Amino acid sequence: MYDLIVIGGGPAGLTAAIYGIRKRLNVLMVSRDLGGKTQWKLALPWIEDYQVIRGIEVVDKFKSELEYLDFARHMEKVEKIEKEGDNFIVRTAGGGELKTRAVIIASGTKQKTLKVPGEREFMMKGLCYSALSYAPLFIDKTTVVIGDGDLALRSAAELATIAKKVYLVSHSDKFLANPLGKKVSAAKNVTTLIGHDVQEFRGDEFARAVVLKDPGGGLMEVTADGIFIEMALLPNSQMVEGLVDLDTDGRILVDTSGRSTMPGIFAAGDVASGYAEQVLIAVGEGAKAALSAYEYLLLKM
Ligand SMILES: Cc1cc2nc3c(=O)[nH]c(=O)nc-3n(C[C@H](O)[C@H](O)[C@H](O)COP(=O)(O)OP(=O)(O)OC[C@H]3O[C@@H](n4cnc5c(N)ncnc54)[C@H](O)[C@@H]3O)c2cc1C
Repeated sequence: MYDLIVIGGGPAGLTAAIYGIRKRLNVLMVSRDLGGKTQWKLALPWIEDYQVIRGIEVVDKFKSELEYLDFARHMEKVEKIEKEGDNFIVRTAGGGELKTRAVIIASGTKQKTLKVPGEREFMMKGLCYSALSYAPLFIDKTTVVIGDGDLALRSAAELATIAKKVYLVSHSDKFLANPLGKKVSAAKNVTTLIGHDVQEFRGDEFARAVVLKDPGGGLMEVTADGIFIEMALLPNSQMVEGLVDLDTDGRILVDTSGRSTMPGIFAAGDVASGYAEQVLIAVGEGAKAALSAYEYLLLKM
């Protein structure tokens, strides 16, 4: 029986696991990989590493500790978490059954992709999925934002404050009806391409253009310095569906201490309800969830 199982090896999970180990808990981190989305790094011809706040140094320190502590990690996908009395069973893809007193879920989100030609080839080479992280690098540049919801709107709004030009490509204009949508639509440097469908990304070493099908079926090519796919972030929360409350986007609802609605289950990072997807926020939330889980476990030890 473990004291604490941490699910996910990204910034939130790595931090939570190390904090738990430092508190002398019997911890196991179960994850598909070590590092999570910190392995994603956007390459742009005009950008140096120091211009981006990546938080990778903090994560690398915890990552190398867990690489060393092999008894505290198990590399496998988690399928389901079940309650058994006061404790929990973590079921893994290979049929494993791991018992624990408390769980921290730090399984992050999945990016919705377009699955069109060129997407895989140019992924993170001029073709990006996080304007929240990279928009400030596009001063006086031409950009394209692809998406139909709040994520695309937020990204286009931020880019419009600094980029020379923003093309907002979407299927419908419904998401432009709110105040931010109206502001974006009215901005002089924004062109909305409603009813357009992405066909292909083109480029050389980096993505340089996107081919769109217009509502009449004609093809057009838009060239840009950076193209952002901002469709949706899908939380990896299926393993606790029905066990804890989720918000309307599928994120695990947590209080300010990282506690879910089920005592003994905690969540941190992008999979939890909260604000903004950033490495340093996930690290902080991982630390907080671990301390919160420790306090919960003090009653049981
Ligand atoms: C393209 C891109 C670039 C970014 N650039 C930056 C940046 O420059 N600076 C910045 O601060 N932020 C950046 N971000 C955001 C940042 O990467 C995330 O906010 C951060 O990684 C979230 O950490 P996390 O631990 O919550 O989740 P993740 O990093 O997503 O880690 C989730 C972990 O859970 C594991 N996992 C998922 N499901 C399961 C399962 N069922 N069973 C077992 N394990 C599972 C995964 O394998 C992974 O190890 C970027 C995001 C993207 C997409």
